[in-house]
Formats: sequence, structure tokens, C-alpha cells
Amino acid sequence: MTVLNYNSQSKISFTKPPVKLPLGISNIFLIPCEGGYLQIDTGYESNYRGYKNLLSIVGVKLREIRYLFLTHHHDDHAGFLNELTNEADLTIIAHEKAKSLLLSGMNDKTNGGGYINPTIKILASIKMRFDPHWTLTFPPFNLREKDILISADDDQLLRKIGIEGRILTTPGHCVDHLAIVLDNGDVFCGDAASSFLLPFGTRYATVFMTNMEDAYRSWQKMLDVRAQVIYPSHGKAFSADKLKENMGKYKTSDLVRFF
Ligand SMILES: [Zn+2]
Repeated sequence: MTVLNYNSQSKISFTKPPVKLPLGISNIFLIPCEGGYLQIDTGYESNYRGYKNLLSIVGVKLREIRYLFLTHHHDDHAGFLNELTNEADLTIIAHEKAKSLLLSGMNDKTNGGGYINPTIKILASIKMRFDPHWTLTFPPFNLREKDILISADDDQLLRKIGIEGRILTTPGHCVDHLAIVLDNGDVFCGDAASSFLLPFGTRYATVFMTNMEDAYRSWQKMLDVRAQVIYPSHGKAFSADKLKENMGKYKTSDLVRFF
């Protein structure tokens, strides 16, 4: 899927197809909903101008973004929430555990975790050395009264706004993680799974994980509701069969600590 090219095996006839905005190493998705779009995540704080350029390229106005679905609080997903909510009148949908984590302005370090394997740790330390802006922090954000907090799987909320799909709580990458599974099997999984850096042995996990057993339970939840095609925040789309094939390949005790 590239900009304006959504290769869904969709059985749902969207009046408009979802749109992918490739923003640096991240993918932002726009899913049509009542009155406009539900956007999945922001990028880094520094990505805001690039994001607005991409919006104009695909012909979407900022005022058409009605909802911001936050898969989790990390710097590359919540980076420009402040700018976005200053300019767009939108409602945020997030995990209730995201509230305090967003206020902290830091990727959570209180629940353990580490790099998926030693090779990724080496790559990350090289990146940190040469990219001083990579600090795993972001401008704190205070969720507002009108924002919607999710604490359990939800099969109703998206349908009320015209999206045929459900929200799943999907911990493993971090504790406040959410994903969307459409009824046609398309999954917008955030960082619950990833095809980024596969040649370095990530086995469809994200480079950083908090708890692998939780992560595989989250994969199984997505499979149980007939996930077919996974659209991750990092990397290209892939078949849900990859989740079955790689289930259980890592344990939490395999993670390489860096906190
Ligand atoms: Zn991410």
C-alpha cells in the first residue's frame, strides 16, 4: 500500500479507501469515517510539516481529520499531538493507560522490556550515537475531557462513527497499546507487530518490546478475529500468516535490556 494505492482484499465498499501517508520510518493511516477520517497516530514532533505536505498531496484537509486513534504513547506515534489538536478539531481515542504516559513526555521505562535481540541493540546504539535527536521523549500531552479512553476490547465505538471494525487492546510492545481490526480482515496494528528490519531477526516483532508473552497473546487476539492483512506502523504490509509462523519465537527473558 502506498499513498493513494490501498491494496485491500476488502469486502467492505468504502466510499473512499483508507489512505497511507509514509512519514519517515512511520506509516500514518487515514480510515474514512462519518464526516471525514479517523487518523492512526502522528509521527515524531519534527514530522508535522511533512505530514501536512502529505495531507495536501492526497487532497485531505486538516478539518476532515475527525478522530485521532493513538495506538500508543511513544515519541514516534504521539510526537505532534499538540500541534495537531491546536489546528484540528478532533477527538482522540487512546488506551486509558496512555493518559499518564502522555503526560510524562517519555517512552515508558517503568514496565521493563528491551531490544528484541543483540543485533538490534547494536544498530540502535549506532543510531543513537549519530542521531542526537533520537531521545525517546516527546512534548507532553494532556488528554482532554472530550477524548475517549479505552480500557478493554471494544466492538461498538468504531461502528458508531461509520467504521466496520473493532478495537483490541494489544499489550506487548508497551502497556497502553491498541489496534484496529476491520471486519474485512485488515489490521492497523501500530507497533504490536512490524515488518521493519526483518533481515536482522526481528521475526515480525518491533525492535523494542516490553513483554513477549503479552505480545503473542495480542497476535492471537488479532488472529482470532480473522486478521488477514497486517498494516504496521513500521514496514510494509504482510500476511497475518506471518504472525502464526513466528508466534513464540522470542521470550521476554530473551530481550536485551537497555534501561
Ligand atoms: Zn513506533
